[in-house]
Amino acid sequence: MLKRLEAQWSRHALSAKPAVVYPVAVCICLLAGWLLAVVASYLQDRADLQQRAASISQQLERQLSLANVALSRIDSVMPGNNCDLSSRLLAAVVQSTPHARYALRQAPDGRVCTSDLSRMDMPPAAPAGTSLSLRAELAGGSAVVLQRQGNGSSMLELGAVSLATILQTESAVVAATVRVGSQYLTADGEVRKWDEAMVQGLNRRVGSHDGLLEVVVQQPWVEVLWHSLLRRLDTLLLAGLAGVALGWALLRRQLARNSSSWEIAQGIRNREFFTHYQPIVTADQGECIGVEVLARWRHPVQGAIRSDLFIPAAEDAGLIVPLTRYLIRRVSKEFKQVALPPGFLVSINIAAEHLGMPDLVEDCKMLLAVLREKKAVLVLEVSERFPLPEHQVTHRVVQDLRQMGVKLALDDFGIGHADRNYLRRWGFDYLKVEKGYVSALGKDSFKANILDGLLQTSRQLGVQVIVKGVETQGQQNYLSVKGFQFLQGFYFGKPMTLNHFRQWLYSGITQDRVPSVAAMAAGRSEAADR
Ligand code: C2E
Ligand code: CA
Repeated sequence: MLKRLEAQWSRHALSAKPAVVYPVAVCICLLAGWLLAVVASYLQDRADLQQRAASISQQLERQLSLANVALSRIDSVMPGNNCDLSSRLLAAVVQSTPHARYALRQAPDGRVCTSDLSRMDMPPAAPAGTSLSLRAELAGGSAVVLQRQGNGSSMLELGAVSLATILQTESAVVAATVRVGSQYLTADGEVRKWDEAMVQGLNRRVGSHDGLLEVVVQQPWVEVLWHSLLRRLDTLLLAGLAGVALGWALLRRQLARNSSSWEIAQGIRNREFFTHYQPIVTADQGECIGVEVLARWRHPVQGAIRSDLFIPAAEDAGLIVPLTRYLIRRVSKEFKQVALPPGFLVSINIAAEHLGMPDLVEDCKMLLAVLREKKAVLVLEVSERFPLPEHQVTHRVVQDLRQMGVKLALDDFGIGHADRNYLRRWGFDYLKVEKGYVSALGKDSFKANILDGLLQTSRQLGVQVIVKGVETQGQQNYLSVKGFQFLQGFYFGKPMTLNHFRQWLYSGITQDRVPSVAAMAAGRSEAADR
């Protein structure tokens, strides 16, 4: 199953072309930003409309309650045979009521008086109680008519044009109307027939005056969106910029990542990777007891690429396992032709995730078969940088490898957080001390002290220490005198091709590196002085 997944992954990586997905991501980011801005604006518009409708409704309410008070005063007028007095009373009511222009009172006995003696419009048929109607056909222009049927009939006519000023909003795209029954009053004071289909877009309705009228404030959809866009232009621009920046960053990352992962996958397929070997020697005699296998990449165009660049890239791209597999196969083939001293260590760097894959056991079998023939030992180095996953599978893989005689080394020791428990739990055979500890000798006494203390700890834990990064004779002398057993570094040999290594191994070059007795004695006394 894992194998199949990995194969699929590798195929995907091989076919991965520089991303087309990120321009899409930019668009999505932009769209998301725009949508957010529009939604925010829509919510704002809705709240605004609600507020506007409520405010118009309140103003109407106030005017109508004044009209209602006036209607009560009209109720109290009792027309007699002569209308003079009643007419004056009614005219006074009209004058003192905002927007009122005409009043009529019909006594229960049928006698009628009006505020304007030149007019005698009879009130329209109305239901009992107080009612409101809109009338367009009147001589003085359209009107809002308040009526009360009961003890006779009272009527107050309000000029629609004057009352409709309440409905006028500063906005050209917000329409406010008052619906009364099957008619409505526009902001221009016109009376028209109401049709529910006219209400489009964002709208708010507020009932008023005991449900006699309804204030409808509306804004068409296109206007709502356009308005939202204009109002949120700043947010939209910011969202757009953020979207472009994010998309661009992702695109660049993906381009770099895709191109490097694609290149690495191609490199594995085209066998552009090869191995160098760096000797591991005894501290006192400089005798080579093993090698560390180090990956190298000769890119067809870019030439040699540094391993501290392509290894992390391969790890990021999930290609470190296929790369290690390829290297293991390559080392197996190369070592077939080499004679090695018994017990010789062949140390291979393994990513922590690889140790959690049962396939690693199979991967190692071919190399183990070659090494066993030469009585050599396979060592797997895992870095302290990435703690081993505490899974059952990983423990089982480690157990299986141990049973096959594979040794385990903790690489870059001293930079991570491996404590005694971690070392015991995984049963490391070797600790490879990070280069920085050697280069700090003579400069950083804190690190030097840690290095000194390490020997004692390693003895207690039963692990052997390999000190990396030895570059000078002084360092070798110091470490040898201190009692470190195994060393690795440019002083003994740089990473080299197998052919070079063979020559190096049998040329006795390390003999030159054997610390002189005098130097050792000097070193010992120096160590004793500390
Ligand atoms: P590392 O495991 O610490 O490997 C030793 C690195 O130190 C090598 O660098 C080697 O050239 C360098 N080195 C050895 N002696 C000295 C010295 O005296 N002074 C200094 N300054 N450097 C010294 P390289 O080959 O560039 O490898 C860098 C890292 O890449 C390795 O560090 C290892 O972590 C990783 N790496 C290399 N090959 C593989 C591989 O096949 N698989 C995995 N997973 N990682 C690898
Ligand atoms: Ca290593």
